[in-house]
Amino acid sequence: LFITFEGPDGAGKTTVLSAISEQFKQAHRNDIVVTREPGGNQISEAIRDIILNPKNTQMDVRTEALLYAAARRQHIQETIQPALDAGKVVLCDRFVDSSVAYQGAGREIGENAVYEMNQFATNGLTPDLTIYVDVPSEVGLARIKAHRDVVDRLDAETLSFHKRVRAAYLRLAADHPDRIVTVDATQPVATVIDTATTLIINAIKK
Ligand code: C5P
Ligand code: MG
Repeated sequence: LFITFEGPDGAGKTTVLSAISEQFKQAHRNDIVVTREPGGNQISEAIRDIILNPKNTQMDVRTEALLYAAARRQHIQETIQPALDAGKVVLCDRFVDSSVAYQGAGREIGENAVYEMNQFATNGLTPDLTIYVDVPSEVGLARIKAHRDVVDRLDAETLSFHKRVRAAYLRLAADHPDRIVTVDATQPVATVIDTATTLIINAIKK
């Protein structure tokens, strides 16, 4: 069972996932693997360093999209697919939907082009369930400014960039109602955590 977490910046995705991860750890659920892109492997981490390096101001948008897809491929091969093959549940922080939203819509490459390019990278691997934590761009950006000491190159984007990203996520959720479940991240974080946990447990039971 392959479950992904998605959301715009400032939705609280990281907070929610680490709480969920901790819950499953304490319950000794060794059948559940929590992972995040770029995945902790050497090759993907090296690719990520190129993407996030603030010195790489000349990074072309398609280069960026290809690098994310390359890192994703390696993460699948080294972590996701072996865990799925072993019958485990994989919870992954960001996947192809992030690229469709950030590179396709945010960077305006085109959502379909980025989706198609990622099909090559994933060889068609698609999540069984995607938990999308949704937050209005203004709220998300205000949270980033209030709570983050480190603001990376990508956090420093304009409001209109973040609005394009969110709009793409909402389109994805509308287009894939059987796969993507939207959770309102303006709710208290404990509610978001409980809702996401229930969604995961129900998906495992099915
Ligand atoms: O999930 P997290 O917020 O840690 O991701 C780090 C940053 O990478 C995000 O702020 C997002 O702006 C950026 N990102 C991106 N394209 C992706 C995935 C993430 O621009 N495909
Ligand atoms: Mg971020």
